Amino acid sequence: MPANILTEEERNKDFKKTEYFRYDIGTHQVRFLTPNAVLKYTHWVLDRYSIECLGDDCPICENNERLKLEFPTDYKKQRGYNGQQRTHFLNLLDRSPIKTCANGHQNKSINGKFYPTCTTCGVVLPKEYTPANIVKVASFSEANMRNLVNIENAILNKDQEVIGWTNYDIALIITKPADKKVITPQALTQFSDPVEVNPDELYDLDTAVMHLERDEIKALFQGIDLRDIYRARYTPKATIEDATMSLVGNSSIEFVEQETKVQLELDNLFNS
Ligand SMILES: [Zn+2]
Ligand SMILES: [Zn+2]
Repeated sequence: MPANILTEEERNKDFKKTEYFRYDIGTHQVRFLTPNAVLKYTHWVLDRYSIECLGDDCPICENNERLKLEFPTDYKKQRGYNGQQRTHFLNLLDRSPIKTCANGHQNKSINGKFYPTCTTCGVVLPKEYTPANIVKVASFSEANMRNLVNIENAILNKDQEVIGWTNYDIALIITKPADKKVITPQALTQFSDPVEVNPDELYDLDTAVMHLERDEIKALFQGIDLRDIYRARYTPKATIEDATMSLVGNSSIEFVEQETKVQLELDNLFNS
């Protein structure tokens, strides 16, 4: 193996891929692992990405302000208006039943029923299923978070104290009655077994939302591909030159490491 190719383990050493909870239609059984969700201000951009709002320095908010001045009554309907959203992040343990196919793909049940074959590769699924038990990052809109907090506040112990959602499972029932998915949460207080998760498995929620700098956001809106924006972060011009001049020098290893990091970050974003 050439010296400058990193093993899977080396590649992942400094970079843990974030596993995001997917809001697939059906019933999911989860245990929240974060007592208090972490609030981030975000924008949903290009119909594809949720990115962190930069507050006073946010070019999207600046554009919103311009539209507000120009169209005081119906600025929200203007093309280009992109409201700031409150998004709540937490770590959860996905305990939904899954069947794993012979090729290692995990298949979730939809309302307790499984497809007969793997949805990824088509092989017949086994009869047995197990809880997924995978730590994931979930994000909830302001309205969904309010529903969840209401549920939490309604589940009390004998002394009328709030038990806290880390102590029982919650069903997230996802439906799509019209063009938007709806999340209906339900407390499953009969599932109150203590769960033990290694703290290393929890994700840093402060980095759970994509953060772009002001110039990068502007570039994204000018049509620059997100991959190129990320690539530019890791490829200072001198390094590219050094890397092309010497195939085995340290700088080329550095270059490969940077490219690997870019690829990992991009895989992370595009799989979510
Ligand atoms: Zn903003
Ligand atoms: Zn499969």
